[in-house]
Amino acid sequence: MSEINLTLINNLLALSKLDGSLAHIVSERKRWDSEVKARVQERNKAQASYQAKLKQFEDRRSLCKQEEKNLGEERQRLTERRKALKTLGTYKLQQAAEREIEHINRELNSREEGLIKMISEAEVLEKEVAALSDALQKAQTTLSQLEEKAKTDLSDLETREREYKAERESLVPQLDAASITTYNKVRDKHPGSAIAMVSNNSCTGCFMQIGPQLVVQVAKGLALQRCPGCGRILYLSPDAAKPK
Ligand SMILES: [Zn+2]
Repeated sequence: MSEINLTLINNLLALSKLDGSLAHIVSERKRWDSEVKARVQERNKAQASYQAKLKQFEDRRSLCKQEEKNLGEERQRLTERRKALKTLGTYKLQQAAEREIEHINRELNSREEGLIKMISEAEVLEKEVAALSDALQKAQTTLSQLEEKAKTDLSDLETREREYKAERESLVPQLDAASITTYNKVRDKHPGSAIAMVSNNSCTGCFMQIGPQLVVQVAKGLALQRCPGCGRILYLSPDAAKPK
């Protein structure tokens, strides 16, 4: 392999390594993004469940309070009516009023039983609210920890990205335009592995056999040669490329 081509291949290998690292950074960013999004979704779901249950509990509790108040007032009225029985003029009127009072009393008794049931239902709801509140707190903690980790890692990725880009910028001017064009085309298809070594007459990128004529072309190094199988830019292992 000619010295010029060896330098070109080495530069392309360096460029490919840098582009591979840059592509890795992009995928790491996407991974963080989707991981955080998934945890946000979990937290939002936990929050919605908690809020729905809390509302259910609060509605039930205020219903209980209202009924408790109503029953208290009606009991009070009934007591007053009982006291007023004696003031009624005739026995017949008293009897009719007593029957009515008894009827209302039975109704109130049954409503009180209903209230007791409602209160115990509210207690069950309260426990469910507490459990959902715990779950929400846990989801929030998990999310916060992940966000903290993501923040550190993303800032580290940013630093590395800046370094790789600077290295790339100093490397590109050392390459000729035609080689860069070829390289870019291959890189889009094989990010991070655009250059493949020929070993035992086969491409180490796709393991396809390389014909002897192409191997000779690669060895001559007059122009960039590409694998007929995968399209990667080929080069000979340093041992094979040694002048004989
Ligand atoms: Zn190949």
